[in-house]
Amino acid sequence: MAVNIVKFLTLLEKEVKTYKVPVVDLIAVQTKDPFKVLVATILSARTKDEVTAKASERLFAEADTVQELAKLDEARLQKLVFPVGFYKNKARYLVALPGVLTRDFSGNVPQSMDELLTLPGVGRKTANLVLAQAFSVPAICVDTHVHRIMNIWGYVETKNPQQTEMALREKLPEKYWIPVNSLLVAFGQGTCRPVSPHCDRCLLAADCPQKGVVPRKIKKISTKGKVLRLVSWNVNGLRAVYKKGFLQSLAEMAPDVLGLQEIKAMPEQLPEELQELKGYHSYFYSALRKGYSGVAVYSKQKARRVIRGIGDARFDDEGRVLTLEFEKYFFITCYFPNSKGDLSRLGFKHDFNVLLQSFAENLAKEKSVVVCGDYNVAHKEIDLANPRQNVKNAGFTPEERAWMDDFTEDGWIDSFRQKNKAAEQYSWWSYRSRARDRNIGWRLDYHYVDRKSAEKVVDVDILQDIHGSDHCPVVLDFLE
Ligand code: SF4
Repeated sequence: MAVNIVKFLTLLEKEVKTYKVPVVDLIAVQTKDPFKVLVATILSARTKDEVTAKASERLFAEADTVQELAKLDEARLQKLVFPVGFYKNKARYLVALPGVLTRDFSGNVPQSMDELLTLPGVGRKTANLVLAQAFSVPAICVDTHVHRIMNIWGYVETKNPQQTEMALREKLPEKYWIPVNSLLVAFGQGTCRPVSPHCDRCLLAADCPQKGVVPRKIKKISTKGKVLRLVSWNVNGLRAVYKKGFLQSLAEMAPDVLGLQEIKAMPEQLPEELQELKGYHSYFYSALRKGYSGVAVYSKQKARRVIRGIGDARFDDEGRVLTLEFEKYFFITCYFPNSKGDLSRLGFKHDFNVLLQSFAENLAKEKSVVVCGDYNVAHKEIDLANPRQNVKNAGFTPEERAWMDDFTEDGWIDSFRQKNKAAEQYSWWSYRSRARDRNIGWRLDYHYVDRKSAEKVVDVDILQDIHGSDHCPVVLDFLE
């Protein structure tokens, strides 16, 4: 049944008054300056509002006109706008911007879509936002929140933001074209969040069809113990993911313990706030080789004991396994070797797997064990999009899958499959061919638990909406 869009948006207009105002709207209201709106909009792409606000403030303190911006070189701009997402690209756009504005538009920000699209770093989303916020021209800025929420409501059925924009232009009453972005950005950041939306406290819950949504789960406190949120994520470079909104993702996931793989850094190479993450105890185990492999754990609770490695320099020099002991369980974060395209590391990987298993089994004699991480293998055909094409490829070879069979037969439990038998549940996508958009992926990231801990698996999830790496995080809610 189609939602009553006027009712929904009217309710939201009242609701989001208490929410934070999106940063670009704020700059538009405060300055009424098209140049500042344009620059802030360019900076805001794939960046947290707080980061955009601070970067805009630093930049406008030095250059708040086209002429002043023209005096700054790329290196200075990079410094001023860091750490907005893709800051190097954005600095490059901002260096080029004054020249184009001066040459083609007498130093003014143009007021049509076609003209705005000729500016460096400006796509349809940015152009629509500038038109709406700087010039009050009816335009629908469709960002990820507008696209996502309109599809959740079933008001449109579209595959990407551009299709959503076109569909909304056909059916959304014009008086909502400008405000719909601010409304849904604020609502999408506050209540209808990409990960675990707060349907439990949403004023639209009674009428919302919740298409494709997994509502947020309220942690159940058991009389036997509390439920811990254990998250595993191959970040493919901790410094890189930090620049792509890692701290915001962390706030959304709210893990009790977060195991990371492929951090690709020594602790001292990390920004200070990652070396000692606020609210968490920080543990690192880096590879000897710089920029390669490495694992880390952030834990709200201090570990009783930390074990680095599994006792074999071949693997430990690559910083692959970090174990934290808590009162009632061991948490192991693990980056399993990749057997490589030519399978030259298949034997190395098998040796690692066998040793890791025996290490975990020894710990399981004492208490519960959770072995999470990037296993670098899809276990069954259901765990990848194209099994037949990949039978001879790294990550799906019979040898790698056979070890997973052995591991499982020895009593280790794939907690995700214990709760979720559905197909197309992937945690890794190639960067090529828009594989993630098309969900052509693999499930490579797991939380395995020892056989005695099956009853402690409360819930599992794959957080496909969390971006920043070619892997997404996976979650285990685990009874302590
Ligand atoms: S009920 Fe849930 S899915 Fe629907 S709008 Fe509210 S938070 Fe979003």
